[in-house]
Amino acid sequence: MRFVYGPVPSRRLGQSLGVNVIPFKTCNYSCVYCQLGKTTNLINERKSFFPKEEILKEVAEVVERVEADHITFAGEGEPTLCNDIGWLIREIKKITDIPIAVLTNGSLLYREDVRYDLAEADVVIPSLDAADEKTFRRINRPHRDLKIEEIIDGMIEFGREYRGRFYIEIMLVKGYNDSEEALFAIKSALEKIKPNGVYLLTPIRPPTSKIEPADEFGIMRAHAILGDVVDVIDPEIGDFSTECFSSAEEAVKTLLKRHPMREDQLKDFLKKFGKDLSLLETIEGIRRVEYMGKIFYVYMGQ
Ligand code: SF4
Repeated sequence: MRFVYGPVPSRRLGQSLGVNVIPFKTCNYSCVYCQLGKTTNLINERKSFFPKEEILKEVAEVVERVEADHITFAGEGEPTLCNDIGWLIREIKKITDIPIAVLTNGSLLYREDVRYDLAEADVVIPSLDAADEKTFRRINRPHRDLKIEEIIDGMIEFGREYRGRFYIEIMLVKGYNDSEEALFAIKSALEKIKPNGVYLLTPIRPPTSKIEPADEFGIMRAHAILGDVVDVIDPEIGDFSTECFSSAEEAVKTLLKRHPMREDQLKDFLKKFGKDLSLLETIEGIRRVEYMGKIFYVYMGQ
């Protein structure tokens, strides 16, 4: 499978069947916490990257045989940079009742065409890690054309128009956006955006930059300032499905490229193919990383 992966357990969407519509690391941000590494293709124009009919064909094949709580547009970069996303959402809704979610950095919601494209999704979760320009530039390292004020205005507009479930996600990173000043700015933006809820997360999988997740003081401060709209989400639980893969090697490469896995998760996953961790020694590009006292595996190959 080239465009569809999983289902993988998601902290907010249950078993999530991923759809990737973007070539590896194409984004208009290069967040310090990005688990995919530094953005290698930093662009801000929307384009069609792959034949949309091929993506739809794969989704149609997979939904016939797997169960999932959501079909989620996410993957290897920012999905709203793909200008086929609206067409894909509308076409997928014709073939399945599985709710559609979009995980986005929210940076293009100021554009009317992007708001229109996401209108038919069931759940939209944009991120908002900063609401002042200085923190925004430091944590999200955005394309130079993007301005946080315009992005927040786009989220306000989207919140007014959109009829589905609309949540904001904040990734709290120690020393970046966990100060009183940064959190008060986010609070003030959230009061205007008026989402249905707010998820507060800390990086639980290893990014490539040297950053640390917010500690308990940062999390407490965020709760105290942002109020009871905020949820701290625990690490995900649940199975990684083998359904989309023809071999253990293909599964390991596809999943670990987009979704670093803890050692215990990977052991259980490989067991389903009758394999163990020794398989990893035969795959070039696998890296073993220690993060927050746990061992993770990532795939850095092509
Ligand atoms: S917006 Fe998402 S894909 Fe883009 S750099 Fe940030 S975390 Fe990575």
